Amino acid sequence: MPANLAKYSRKKRSYFSILLFFVMLPLLLFQFSCGTGEVPAVQDREESSAEEHSSSTAEKNEEESKDNTIEEAEKEEVSEEKQATELDFEKIKPNELGDFMVLMYHEIGSPESEWRRTPDNFRRDLELLYEKGYRAVNLSDIVNGNIDIPAGTSPVVLTFDDATKGQFNFLEDNDGKKIDPDCAVAIMEEFYKENPDFGLAATFYIYYPNPFRQQEYIEEKLNYLVDKGFEIGNHTYGHANLSRIGSGKVQQELAYHVRETQKYVPNYQVRSLALPYGAYPQDNPGLALKGSYEDISYHNEAVLLVGANPAPSPFHENFDPSRLPRIRASEMKTEGVGLYDWLEYFEDNPHRKYVSDGDPGYISAPKATKEYLEEDNINNKEVRFYEIESESEKEKN
Ligand SMILES: [Zn+2]
Repeated sequence: MPANLAKYSRKKRSYFSILLFFVMLPLLLFQFSCGTGEVPAVQDREESSAEEHSSSTAEKNEEESKDNTIEEAEKEEVSEEKQATELDFEKIKPNELGDFMVLMYHEIGSPESEWRRTPDNFRRDLELLYEKGYRAVNLSDIVNGNIDIPAGTSPVVLTFDDATKGQFNFLEDNDGKKIDPDCAVAIMEEFYKENPDFGLAATFYIYYPNPFRQQEYIEEKLNYLVDKGFEIGNHTYGHANLSRIGSGKVQQELAYHVRETQKYVPNYQVRSLALPYGAYPQDNPGLALKGSYEDISYHNEAVLLVGANPAPSPFHENFDPSRLPRIRASEMKTEGVGLYDWLEYFEDNPHRKYVSDGDPGYISAPKATKEYLEEDNINNKEVRFYEIESESEKEKN
């Protein structure tokens, strides 16, 4: 047993001891106040039930209540173990080494085009994702390996590039202003209200000087997003093509974004970058991850590409947060690699999809995928590989 697994089990045992202590404490006090001086303990249970015959009604009730307490404590222990070990692998088929989708949206508006999704089509995307068992998570949850969604569901990351007006728009009239019900933020919030288990999560890769195209509301919008749990990501300061500028300018573009974002949202940590045009800095690709300019430094835990396939699980050896592929959430000119193509692919190849075991403390996957586990990314989780008897084997037995 690797050290970290042993540590995890020890931790569980000590939680139980603490629980048992608090269950027994009132009993102990009760015993002493009755003047019996008897110290009840779990291992004394059989002896004390043997003595029970001769006792008075009061003592009997006391014994009964003690037994109930012990039984309850035992039940809790059993159910805790059950949760930990008796997941219905055959039914859930968790695969936390499977692939997941990072979806890339640009404009939300009309008419539909290659880089523009209509509000109704965006609603349809959310509906379909939800029906097919996808749940929205933030990119940082993926990068941290903290994917907390129900057993049997699959994570999906929504990303929005370029901070267009249709992503987050305020409408103004004589009564003041309200969020445009057809902008992406409102659509996601509305969907979340009706389906809270879908989650409310997305990353907005914004650039300056005027994200979301309403200068007077920049500060309000960025703080609104952060307050709601959305993420703000780096898309350079001025939508620069990082392959066409020198190292100094690359760092200036990325650092100035951070400076500007923190001007509106003090101390906000920008943690990921979506590369404009999918272009890396040519001389030093590592500058996409880390660098500094003047007195501003930046650190991107993930760098997102433009195309065109699902990404490996954060626990898979092929997971590379410095080059995370995205899928175009579009139905036009997607050449077989758009959102709807990949949804169909996962329908036909369910074994390729990340499926959660419902407990972020565990990594569960079919035994056949064992060799792909990235040991460095396990952190403090317990790993479970399982084997399911195939249908043909069942028939033989
Ligand atoms: Zn862009």
